[in-house]
Amino acid sequence: MDVSLLESALHDRGEPAYRAQQVWEWTARGAAGYDAMTNLPRALREALEADVPFSTLAVETQGESRDGTVKTLFRTADGHPVEAVLMRYRDGRRSLCLSSQSGCPLTCTFCATGQMAFGRNLTAWEIVDQALHFRRIEPVDHAVFMGMGEPMLNLDEVLAAARRLPALGITHRRTTISTVGWLPGLKRFVSDVDEPIRLALSIHAADDELRSQIMPVNVRYPLREVLAECRRHYAITNRRVFVEYVMLNGVNDSPEQGRALAELLGPKGFKVNLIPYNPTGMYDGSSRTRIAAFKAQLDRAHVPATVRLTRGRDIEAACGQLAAAPKERQRTVASAR
Ligand code: SF4
Repeated sequence: MDVSLLESALHDRGEPAYRAQQVWEWTARGAAGYDAMTNLPRALREALEADVPFSTLAVETQGESRDGTVKTLFRTADGHPVEAVLMRYRDGRRSLCLSSQSGCPLTCTFCATGQMAFGRNLTAWEIVDQALHFRRIEPVDHAVFMGMGEPMLNLDEVLAAARRLPALGITHRRTTISTVGWLPGLKRFVSDVDEPIRLALSIHAADDELRSQIMPVNVRYPLREVLAECRRHYAITNRRVFVEYVMLNGVNDSPEQGRALAELLGPKGFKVNLIPYNPTGMYDGSSRTRIAAFKAQLDRAHVPATVRLTRGRDIEAACGQLAAAPKERQRTVASAR
């Protein structure tokens, strides 16, 4: 819901200022539409229905994985595809993976989004509407900006969206913004953001040569500079930076590379998530044995590390798999449950 549009529509009708807050509160609590907002006069509900779209996004397809993960493909009003994911964990957590752009201009080689055409930055409302869609399905409590796009390339809209999430039940401490190391945005995030929003860095290699091959952004902003900003974040906030490391068989997953990562990060300031790779064509995922041997190097150096649970692999909703699959393919996937 575009709340700015809502506010001007209410203003034009001479409605009191508190009406916008009433509508927002209903929406954030998961109301299905204006009609559910029973403390608004019926005539006003009908007028809003006509003047202010309840969502800036239209749902095109939706698939549900065997593990309960839900992936939704949306369209913006001007036709751009956007995907977002609801992950359901056994401990009850309900975590959203949100997109900040339609497509992505950075071309990380392991990522399906990076292989599709870049559309544009999303507005804050288009980001919030992804979260609201899932809030209408059930209560949600965590969010990660790890869907399509590089959030630091669209930081103002991402932050504006993140600041709306507590109304949906997602506190700042349970919100994570992830970057591949887009330095201008990262510097602003570290310097300017006062809210306790978590930071994640997708690192995927411990040396510049390999990292530049996997992630061209590293040619522009090398590891040393990016890690210096992450350390500054830790020094200011005392909150560890999550380090994402996707395990690519025979590429970045040897024990020596594990040792190099441990040395690079050190025991303070970071927490590593090793991510089993969800093949999108170019690479194979590492075996469990190789992941365990890699993790042992981090354990030995007292660098906190976990292996991430993969969710939604069968509906291509897992990390690196968001690529706005065509309608037909998504339907097939959804119906194969
Ligand atoms: S990993 Fe992130 S930054 Fe890299 S291409 Fe994919 S969406 Fe873009």
